[in-house]
Amino acid sequence: MSIKPQRGLGAMEPYAPGKSIEAVQREYGLEDIIKLASNENPLGPSPKAVAAIQDALSQLNLYPDSQSCVLRETIAHSLGFDPIQIAVGNGADDIIQQVCLAYLDENSEVLVSRSSFPVYDKFVHTMRATLVKTPLRDYRLDLEAMADAITAKTKLVFVCNPNNPTGTIVTAGEVHTFMDKVPDHVLVIFDEAYYEFVAAAAYPDSLGYLRKGHSNVMTMRTFSKAYGLSGLRLGYAIAAPDVIAPLYQVKGIFTVNLLAQVAGIAAWEDQDFLQKSIEVNRAGLRFFYREFARLGLPYLESHGNFILVNLGPRALNIQQQLLARGIIVRPCNHYDLPEFLRISVGTEVQNARFIVALEEILSKMASGE
Ligand SMILES: *Cc1c(COP(=O)(O)O)cnc(C)c1O
Repeated sequence: MSIKPQRGLGAMEPYAPGKSIEAVQREYGLEDIIKLASNENPLGPSPKAVAAIQDALSQLNLYPDSQSCVLRETIAHSLGFDPIQIAVGNGADDIIQQVCLAYLDENSEVLVSRSSFPVYDKFVHTMRATLVKTPLRDYRLDLEAMADAITAKTKLVFVCNPNNPTGTIVTAGEVHTFMDKVPDHVLVIFDEAYYEFVAAAAYPDSLGYLRKGHSNVMTMRTFSKAYGLSGLRLGYAIAAPDVIAPLYQVKGIFTVNLLAQVAGIAAWEDQDFLQKSIEVNRAGLRFFYREFARLGLPYLESHGNFILVNLGPRALNIQQQLLARGIIVRPCNHYDLPEFLRISVGTEVQNARFIVALEEILSKMASGE
């Protein structure tokens, strides 16, 4: 082929999407599939968001508000910021893209951790910027190593907290030490996609830095996880006005659609649903801790709505056998963690079905079948 895509695409790993429910139904001839692979909310979407969408359907002939004014006001006022400090996107993924478009070029370096969210890599490569990765330490982001890796060319640092896929957090103390070392030319982006699920007292208050006048921080969150709106696509970020403004210069004008705007406002106010989601997740994690301990399987304690379990060299084999039983989980070879599977916390029934299947597979393997 003579029409070549731009050079940045050569550095990109092909995206490895999880299998869809439909694909597994077709491939294995199974009806009853459970997907514990994408950290979606097992309770469904916020009912208030669904009602708001139903009310707005008759307006679909109209373009959405390109500024998402009401949505941004809702978020800003509730968090104690000005609406000009709020960015919105077609999912937090879109905000990552906006940040990369707005801040990167061929001379930029971007710092991320190994075994972290792959969407950062994708858009950094698109901009032909240089991706620098530091190793994990004890399955946690190593902020000391990240601080040491900052150079004059570093533009962005992505701190995924809790980290996907490990579920670990960096603490307020670690972030404090880190922020003291970060020079002003570096924007630190706290990706808090799982913020709502975190209960740890040591979890840092990233917005506190902004409140104290730090202009080189951004906090990014999403409606995809605790609010149950993955399919709708809505994410947001909070930062200083001067940091947000360039995002509006590069952003697709109507990327946050009309339904996402009204549903986001309704979901934001649906505290009952949020609390229920958090409780179901907490109970699910406790169940997994107990069951993995009973099965003698090492796991990482999680601050998100998913858990990493270590199945050794047979992890991928076990993942395939789970698929054949209609259970989709996430292999972690693409995250440099080939011995682990990442399991999203489901409903009580789904979690139990996963454990039954896993135990069955393990005992068959043990008996050499
Ligand atoms: C799920 C996730 C996101 C964003 O998801 P969107 O659906 O694009 O809002 C961002 N960061 C991490 C670490 C995630 O796991």
